Amino acid sequence: MKLPIAYYGDPILRKKGARVEEINDEIRQLVADMIETMDDKDGIGLAAPQVHRSLALFITRAPIPPKAEDEEWTSAPLRVFINPKISDPTPEGWETSEGCLSIPGVYAPVTRPWKVKVEATNLEGERFEEEFSGYEARVIMHENDHINGVLFIDRVLGRLRQELDPKLREIKKRYSIPK
Ligand code: ZN
Repeated sequence: MKLPIAYYGDPILRKKGARVEEINDEIRQLVADMIETMDDKDGIGLAAPQVHRSLALFITRAPIPPKAEDEEWTSAPLRVFINPKISDPTPEGWETSEGCLSIPGVYAPVTRPWKVKVEATNLEGERFEEEFSGYEARVIMHENDHINGVLFIDRVLGRLRQELDPKLREIKKRYSIPK
């Protein structure tokens, strides 16, 4: 079942997601619904707070850039991250444009570390530790921010951030639920 998206201005996007204590049918159903919702919107990642569930859980299907000029972009397999912990960011960062299903139509460059270590639980309940780099690391960090109440626009600084304000106000107005 597709789930309604929480848009910029919704307080749930600013809350820290609660730890998932048990991977039960409810969590499995939530993940299945999140996958359907993400794919429907052609998203590359989705965090539980974006579908109004304040939990430390997100999914990714990160893009993989082509290795040669005549090749196409592909996608990494779908990944589920429950109660994630990110560590060991590399000092070197890289900047590229990000967007977010909760902030439609807004894109801005964000600098993030090239590589990070991620410890998380998968849907089978197994704890794993893995290194991610490039776009995959970026999508993971973007989604991990969501479960900490952080949005990518918070990482856009100075004049560039100010330039986003009119668009953000518009989104807030358009998607706010009438009282
Ligand atoms: Zn997002």
